Amino acid sequence: MSNEIPSPVALMWFRRDLRLRDNPALVAATKAGAGNVAGLFVLDEGLMARSGKARNDFMADALVQLDASMDGGLNLVKGSAVTEVVKLAKAVGATQVFATQEFTPYAIARDLEVAQALEAVGATLVHVDSPYMIKPGAIKNLSGQPYKVFGGFRKGWESLTAEFSVLAIPRVNWVLAASPKATISAPKALRPSYFGPGADSSAAVLPVASEAAAKKLIAEFATRSSQYVETRNVPGLSGTSRLSPYLRFGIVHPRQILDKVSRFDDGGRTFASELAWRDFYADVLYTNPQSRYEALQPKMAKLRTDSDAQAIKRFQAWTQGQTGYPIVDAGMRQLLAEGWMHNRVRMITASFLVKHLHIDWRWGAEWFMWNLIDGDIASNQHGWQWVAGTGTDAAPFHRIFNPTLQAERFDPTGEYIKRYVPELKDVMVPECLRPQGGTLLGGFDYVSPIVDQGVERNEALARLAELKPGSLA
Ligand SMILES: Cc1cc2nc3c(=O)[nH]c(=O)nc-3n(C[C@H](O)[C@H](O)[C@H](O)COP(=O)(O)OP(=O)(O)OC[C@H]3O[C@@H](n4cnc5c(N)ncnc54)[C@H](O)[C@@H]3O)c2cc1C
Repeated sequence: MSNEIPSPVALMWFRRDLRLRDNPALVAATKAGAGNVAGLFVLDEGLMARSGKARNDFMADALVQLDASMDGGLNLVKGSAVTEVVKLAKAVGATQVFATQEFTPYAIARDLEVAQALEAVGATLVHVDSPYMIKPGAIKNLSGQPYKVFGGFRKGWESLTAEFSVLAIPRVNWVLAASPKATISAPKALRPSYFGPGADSSAAVLPVASEAAAKKLIAEFATRSSQYVETRNVPGLSGTSRLSPYLRFGIVHPRQILDKVSRFDDGGRTFASELAWRDFYADVLYTNPQSRYEALQPKMAKLRTDSDAQAIKRFQAWTQGQTGYPIVDAGMRQLLAEGWMHNRVRMITASFLVKHLHIDWRWGAEWFMWNLIDGDIASNQHGWQWVAGTGTDAAPFHRIFNPTLQAERFDPTGEYIKRYVPELKDVMVPECLRPQGGTLLGGFDYVSPIVDQGVERNEALARLAELKPGSLA
């Protein structure tokens, strides 16, 4: 590392690629700077204010770990990207700024602004690679259009990802010009008022956000990926990889995972297709930026939802894991305790909010984004749209998850429920899987169900019927 400014030097602007291994943008910067690289991260307080504490904490740890792996050479600043990137480029005399390309509407607009500001001082923003196996916008159908459903996209994705290589860490002389480093503190959070006063995932126990921790998870998952088909839907087991927060911040790239997880069996193939879903949703957002907040199926946008005082009360009970439906409450409490929730339970809890509480999917999506350490606008909003029947490949709205049957099928021993709902720990299966059973057979402290799921199921179907042509709605 050097505090002297060498020449030439290139700037590496880290964003969602907080790693040194297999980072093509960093390799390109190293080449352009003949080994001399000023690595930069800009703490954007506007973005941090819209995220709950847990994800900010996880990101802060990732930055500390990245800085340590650069021997303290990370230029860590606070401010707006457009000002800070230009400032550092000028300070070190870099004419090229390298960055992994991002594809969210916010990032696209920000990068355009930064590129223009750099151009004004004779420097260039160079995009290299992406956080995905395949860049959004690259996979098209035979008519040259983006895929609207996953099946076709996946075929293209599989053929394009059959071969790839993983890059080693380049040898870098890190150039530190911005010192002292900014302290990583979150600004006053812009917490939506309808969240109410209840706890969020601020106190969650988080995993270590380092490349070494991700590497360990990959190695461990690779030993059991062949069982993924059988275990991935059972939340009581460690059946999935838990790599999502690492992917979210680019502490690991999907290439590094697929390099180690064999695709020669059903488990590995199914796992790879989950990474394809991640790419697909990024692609859908890129080609339909409005899908962050708007239903992809316009007809479904007209579905009647509730937002009155009772709906707010029910929403807040849902956020706190106090609905009286054990599998729903276990999931919502896992989110509070860990800043993460198992995929099967994300589907069950989301379905319950939309179809049993009749609340707009966007409220739920916002609560998830606030609390998840893997909170990702593309995967989250489209995961919610899938559940709500408004998105691509969406589960038809009339297929309504019965929370009790879901618990019986996916948590038959009650292991998951008892882990997060201690009121039910002494209640035997199957009673602990049911709303009333817990109360009758020993779960006296457990909350009574806030709604009757049979009644609300019929109400959801009645609201759906209102959308049919010719209905009076
Ligand atoms: C309502 C809802 C909201 C969601 N919000 C998010 C979110 O904000 N961020 C997020 O990363 N995932 C989200 N998902 C997808 C999925 O639940 C998580 O990616 C998964 O639970 C992460 O755990 P894992 O790493 O152990 O997954 P694994 O089963 O090990 O899968 C490996 C990786 O594949 C990707 N993946 C898996 N399932 C999906 C999926 N359905 N859609 C897109 N990518 C997937 C993830 O990157 C994941 O890390 C959401 C799903 C639903 C139903």
